[in-house]
Amino acid sequence: MKTLFATLGYVLFFLLISSCEPAPKHNPSQPTDPQNQKPGPITLVIHGGAGTIERKNMSAEMEAAYQEKLSEALNAGYVVLQNGGKAEEAVMKAITIMEDSPLFNSGKGAVFTAEGLNELDASIMLGRDLNAGAVAGVKTIKNPIKAAWEVLENSPHVMLTGQGAETFAQERGLEMVENSYFRVQRRYNQWLRANGREDEIVDEESKEMSYIDLSHEKHGTVGAVALDQFGNLAAGTSTGGMTNKKWGRVGDSPIIGAGTYADNAACGVSATGHGEYFIRAAVAYDIAAQMKYGNKSLEEAAKATIHEKLQGMGGTGGIISLDRQGNVVMEFNTSGMYRGYIKEAGKPQVAIYKD
Ligand code: ASP
Repeated sequence: MKTLFATLGYVLFFLLISSCEPAPKHNPSQPTDPQNQKPGPITLVIHGGAGTIERKNMSAEMEAAYQEKLSEALNAGYVVLQNGGKAEEAVMKAITIMEDSPLFNSGKGAVFTAEGLNELDASIMLGRDLNAGAVAGVKTIKNPIKAAWEVLENSPHVMLTGQGAETFAQERGLEMVENSYFRVQRRYNQWLRANGREDEIVDEESKEMSYIDLSHEKHGTVGAVALDQFGNLAAGTSTGGMTNKKWGRVGDSPIIGAGTYADNAACGVSATGHGEYFIRAAVAYDIAAQMKYGNKSLEEAAKATIHEKLQGMGGTGGIISLDRQGNVVMEFNTSGMYRGYIKEAGKPQVAIYKD
């Protein structure tokens, strides 16, 4: 009898202990076995920032360069999906290519803070379990989107900032660089100009480029949303923020619900624009919530959020989004947004201007 009680005691104790263990951070994608499941449609949509982007201010070379890089990111992300990769892998692939390109305000080519440095923010979210990771105000992580992923996958937290985020990224074995790695002359010239130091712009060619680009100097954030063959959505965003930002300013891009959101029950969203407004309007979540609780289509929801809510507050910018059926919506209230999507191998569709 005594032994029976002792055994029961042990069993109870064991059950109690296991129920106290922290829940796993996320479950593997569902369904996990592609063999038992007919692969669903795959789609990838990306953006490279919204703003006053007008044909008359853009040289043919610049236009071609943007189109080429957007196509490269779309094709590379699509190959990941085609090979049975997960939505988050496609998102990271596409964003990494844009982070490494000096054309965009993310990773290399980021805008400058008031102190003349580059400070980066990024986030990623999974639609299957609402798990998310983000970093903000980092200065030495080569690809901030990879750090956001590490936070999601290998930390008990959702958002890390500054030095702590950098220590974590280093511990996770990510590539670290000097802050000067992010610096490109075109952005530096924009910064000089924004600070009334035009006379310090030396390079004539970049003087011209920086003038051309000045109209949207605060923009150029990148983002991606993917739907994989398992029916899972993922969204990610990466940025250098806004030119001349001060005091550790953080925008919407690393904030889940503002710049990035994904929920299989609604949609995936990545935003770009004047971050302060996007935070206040909870733009990315606002779109998902209208679908989830108000039965709106993705298009209706995105239009209401951008053209009514955000616009009504005086905010400018745009979003890219995707639902589980593979419907793509790219909505913005600026004159342009670098954007594109791909639904068929080797056929990326890219656009820059409103028309
Ligand atoms: N949303 C970004 C921020 O406010 C900037 C941008 O998208 O252009 O940091």
